[in-house]
Amino acid sequence: MTKIISYQRPKNIEEALSLVCQDKHVPLAGGTQLNANEDTEPLHLVDLQSLALKGIDRSNGKLKIGSMTTLHEIMKNSDSPDLIRLSSRSELPSTLRTLATIGGTIASGDSDSQLIASLLVHDAEVTILKSDGELSVPLQEVLSKPELMDSGIILSIDIATDGESRLEATGRTPADTPIVAVATRQCSDGYRMAITGVAPTPVLVDPENPTVSLQPTSDFRGASEYRIHLAQILASRTLNLLNGEN
Ligand SMILES: Cc1cc2nc3c(=O)[nH]c(=O)nc-3n(C[C@H](O)[C@H](O)[C@H](O)COP(=O)(O)OP(=O)(O)OC[C@H]3O[C@@H](n4cnc5c(N)ncnc54)[C@H](O)[C@@H]3O)c2cc1C
Repeated sequence: MTKIISYQRPKNIEEALSLVCQDKHVPLAGGTQLNANEDTEPLHLVDLQSLALKGIDRSNGKLKIGSMTTLHEIMKNSDSPDLIRLSSRSELPSTLRTLATIGGTIASGDSDSQLIASLLVHDAEVTILKSDGELSVPLQEVLSKPELMDSGIILSIDIATDGESRLEATGRTPADTPIVAVATRQCSDGYRMAITGVAPTPVLVDPENPTVSLQPTSDFRGASEYRIHLAQILASRTLNLLNGEN
């Protein structure tokens, strides 16, 4: 469990930013990962709950999701694309969904996150506040360069809402976190495809050759070769479903 040196709940974003810029100060969102963390490095927690970072707004065909919006709130929001609602639901059990936030999910970058894979195929852009201003970065870049979030606060996530999407997954049991999951979205300029369980974070891949650059790590849930096999089968299944084939 995280060793907490101090807890602070800033009332405005400027105060929050000046705190997270200090050594060993980290943002606290839902706390589901921070409180379960086995890393015993002492941390100062900067609770974001009093900042206005919650809510889902639609504008210009896009959806802006505040970073403190919980997975439960996304699941219940009728403006959210079906794939985003479905993956918010399957990410965590109901007791944690009401606490865990989209900002915390992105910052955690869990390899098995179906929500992150779904956000990737919905062209998610992450807005991060840093001491030198705001930057908006494609989610894929945030995942490959987590240092972009150092001493920063994720403010919101913008996603495209058009197109049709499918998610196919294989787990040890239906309720278990999938070993591999594939999310695919068909939109006017082609397909986007993202895969979980095959790299340190969920990754966007080429839908025509989804496993070409993947080198998954083997673990007790599945060998590397098995994960590649699953990714190929699930990828073609999502494409078949989108094309109306069985
Ligand atoms: C029993 C259990 C099962 C879990 N299963 C899964 C799972 O199946 N899949 C999965 O992906 N995760 C899983 N997790 C991990 C965790 O629940 C998720 O990653 C969760 O979504 C984190 O969100 P949070 O709001 O609780 O983040 P927190 O725990 O509050 O924070 C997590 C990290 O994100 C940072 N952070 C939070 N908000 C921001 C922000 N706005 N800006 C910058 N940094 C921020 C924090 O500093 C911290 O480093 C599980 C956790 C538990 C306890």
